[in-house]
Amino acid sequence: MITKQKIRNFFEAGMIADALGVPVEFNQRDTYTVSTMQGYGTYNQPAGSWSDDSSLTLCLAETLAEKGDADACMTKFVDYLEHGSYTPSGKLFDIGNATREAIFNFEIKSTSAIEAGSRSPSANGNGALMRIAPLAFACLKCARPERQRQIREFTTITHGHIRSIIANDLYVECLRAMLLGMPLIEAMAEAWDVIEVAGYPQKELALFKNIHDTTFAITPRQNIRSSGYVIDSFEAAMWCALNEQTLRGVCLLAVNLGEDTDTIAQIAASLYAAGHLDEQAPPPWRYVLIHTRQEERIVETFAEKFCDE
Ligand SMILES: [Mg+2]
Repeated sequence: MITKQKIRNFFEAGMIADALGVPVEFNQRDTYTVSTMQGYGTYNQPAGSWSDDSSLTLCLAETLAEKGDADACMTKFVDYLEHGSYTPSGKLFDIGNATREAIFNFEIKSTSAIEAGSRSPSANGNGALMRIAPLAFACLKCARPERQRQIREFTTITHGHIRSIIANDLYVECLRAMLLGMPLIEAMAEAWDVIEVAGYPQKELALFKNIHDTTFAITPRQNIRSSGYVIDSFEAAMWCALNEQTLRGVCLLAVNLGEDTDTIAQIAASLYAAGHLDEQAPPPWRYVLIHTRQEERIVETFAEKFCDE
């Protein structure tokens, strides 16, 4: 049974992982070690500050709880970009290029939300992957055609290329299978079975072969790339979630890979947390995480709407 508390825990896991990575984002691997929540660094933010990953996730969560569509979600992204809404301090300090461009297309050029994301193969950063997780809860009881429709719609608002759509489809289906009780490896295999017959081009599907390979966990760390490219980030997050047995361990493994630390940690923590919804991060980390009234209200409303209680 998915309780309100389990949904709160899921959001908190992602936000804590994000906040752990923020001070060291873009740092090269093995030039630093993160072992607890710390402040400042890359963006000079206080400890417990979460980034665009969490801000945009909150926008989607609020949209889903309100039964909003792609346009409603984009309107919240505009509020994030222009007014610093959905941020821990009321001020935006981080946003990806593809997301910024899509918001610009929607707001200034009046492109419809589902057409706003670039279709270019070079616009396949992790910016849509990092915010899509709430859809796994919202689509838990939906039939596959409706799930696929929503995943595509809420992906293309910022990332319109088929690779980003497949990544989100695979990720959301995997999270959903875990919420239904499957362990990560089985959930990923189940998700792959669904994706494989969804009509995607074989050439694009082939790029995801590591992510659903059952032996991927034993890949040596030096072969794991931790860039912001969607495939690299997804692989790195999967590798972390497979190789640690606690939320703390998953977060630290991810944050210490270097480069796109916050996003990879957030995705890794989500992949882990979907199968361990009762587990919370260490109390000192939870204590330091910054909360806002807006964020607490969104998580609470979302939890109320999508719990089984
Ligand atoms: Mg970020």
